[in-house]
Formats: sequence, structure tokens, C-alpha cells
Amino acid sequence: MGMPKVQTTADLQMQYRQVTDRVGAAAERSGRTRSDVLMVAVTKYASPDQIQKIVEMGQVDLGESRAQQLSQRVPQLQEFLDRRRVLGAAATNTTSFPDRVRWHMVGQVQRNKSKVIAPLVDLIHSVDSLRLAEELHALGARQDRVFDILLQVNVSGEAGKGGVASPAVMHLAESIQTMLHLRLRGLMTMAPHSDDPEDARPTFTRCRELFEDLKTAEVVDPHFTVLSMGMSGDYEVAIEEGSNLVRVGRAIFGEDDD
Ligand SMILES: *Cc1c(COP(=O)(O)O)cnc(C)c1O
Repeated sequence: MGMPKVQTTADLQMQYRQVTDRVGAAAERSGRTRSDVLMVAVTKYASPDQIQKIVEMGQVDLGESRAQQLSQRVPQLQEFLDRRRVLGAAATNTTSFPDRVRWHMVGQVQRNKSKVIAPLVDLIHSVDSLRLAEELHALGARQDRVFDILLQVNVSGEAGKGGVASPAVMHLAESIQTMLHLRLRGLMTMAPHSDDPEDARPTFTRCRELFEDLKTAEVVDPHFTVLSMGMSGDYEVAIEEGSNLVRVGRAIFGEDDD
């Protein structure tokens, strides 16, 4: 599904509005309101200029999927925000401009990169093994910090897909619950790739059930509230099935054709 590269600010604004409107409509279809669903703008196909523009449009939550790009873009954007703040103080009518954004790591985390990633982000969506959890926990202990994480679940059981197999999730959640420098905030999943959003629905339904099972079994604590599912091709279906966090890239920024 080719989505053209977004060129102008007006295009970006239009796409951004369209996505936020659709998020709101899907939230209402599922008996909730727009503010019940967080939209993370995934910037992996965006230019630095597009990232600045979307923040100027009021977007606070940004996502990246690679350590390298994350470690460049976080300080780059912060510099822009700091500069804006200084200028804003001198100017008169700049309002409602965020001082800081929240970054989300949505892609696979290699254990040797966890040191780079963890201090830069507010939420790591993609913890998929006990060893990675232990690595992050040890890092948190050394830095006297608590890292917010999601467990990534491979609901469909598709080979080669990131995430913990559903039957292993309960046990891994119990282990993480004992790690004082990690806070288990919820689950993340990705549906198998398809051009038909309806194909994603069963994956989202099962992840939602797993999410509820963990709460019912009291394996997790009250911080466990985040269900991260849905991307450009399937975020509306994900919200209908209970997602409260969607990760949208191409539908906002377009993508490179090359
Ligand atoms: C790239 C990516 C997204 C955003 O994908 P789009 O199809 O561009 O919306 C969401 N989640 C993860 C884990 C990703 O890697």
C-alpha cells in the first residue's frame, strides 16, 4: 500500500489531522473518547523538519524503532525545543508549545544497545526476553532509575516475528514484577502484515484477552494499563479491539518510494 511522501506543511497537517480524527472516531466506536487513546507518531520515515513541524502542531509522543536514529534525533529535537523556548520568551505570542516531548522505543532492542536507548525514552515497547529485562533492570539499578516497559507479544505465532510467545507471557510478567528497577506498564503486539486491516482483528482480540488475563490473575500491578497495538494499516481495528496506544508512521509522514 504505497502512501506518497508528504511534501508540504499543509499536507502534513492534513494527514496528521486525518489520523487524529480517525483515532477519535474509532475510540468512540469502542465506547471511549479520543483522550483514552494515545497516538504515538513514529518518525522513522520522517525528516527532522517534519518532526519539528508535527511537534509544533502539538504532538508530544514520538516513536523510533532503531537505536542509531533515536540517539541522533532525541538531542536534535531537544535542541530545537530549547531554542524555541528561549525565542518564545522573547517573542510574545508563542503559546502551547511543549517544552519536551516523550520518546518511545518501538523497535527491537539489542541487548548491547539497551544502555543507549533506555535513558533516552519514556517507554520501551519491545521487551521480548528475560535476558533483555534483566539487562535493563541491572542498568536501572546502576543509574538508580526505574524504566517503564511493555512486553512485546507474538500473538500470531508467526515465525521470525519479534515478541514473546503468548503462553510464556504470564511467567515472564511474574519475573519482571520482581525487578524493582522495571515498571511493567502493559503489552505491545504487531499483527501479521496484510493489506486488509480485518486480517489483524483476531491478533488484536487475543492480545486484549491476554492483557485482561494478566490483570485478572493479579500477576501485574496497577501500573499495568497500556495496550500498544495498531500501526498505519490497522490502527482503527486495533482501537475497536481495545488498544489504548497506537503507533502511526506512514499514514502521517508518508514514506520514501525508493
Ligand atoms: C515502523 C513501526 C511502526 C509504524 O509503522 P507504520 O506502518 O509506518 O505506521 C509501528 N510500530 C513499530 C514496532 C514499527 O517498527
